[in-house]
Amino acid sequence: MNSECIFCKIVNQEIPAKVVFENDDFLVFNDINPKAELHFLVIPKLHIATLNDADFSQENLLGRMMLLAPKIANENGSTNGFRTIINCGKIGLQEVYHLHMHVLGGQKPLGGFGF
Ligand code: AMP
Ligand code: ZN
Repeated sequence: MNSECIFCKIVNQEIPAKVVFENDDFLVFNDINPKAELHFLVIPKLHIATLNDADFSQENLLGRMMLLAPKIANENGSTNGFRTIINCGKIGLQEVYHLHMHVLGGQKPLGGFGF
């Protein structure tokens, strides 16, 4: 828990979010500024700032985080595929420094990366 962190505050229900899935280790909620028909954020409840800060003791946690993507996508109607994104650090234009995986989908093909 990092008391300054907005996603830790969501985990602790100090600020609201539209939660679509929760278990002991993860929370999944709607992105407040969706970039696709469906746009979820999968976060570990444990505060890990970035993917650069994860280590091999967390490989099981990270593997399970990855496997939540198809479950969440398919259960919410993104049945023909989806996209995952993990932005990391300054170069990745990460805005919220609590590790999260974007899951974007819907029934319409997504746009390109648009760099
Ligand atoms: P990133 O650039 O990967 O750090 O993206 C952070 C994401 O968090 C953005 O897509 C934001 O729209 C989203 N976000 C920021 N604050 C909230 C919030 N309170 N609830 C839901 N999503 C949020
Ligand atoms: Zn946090």
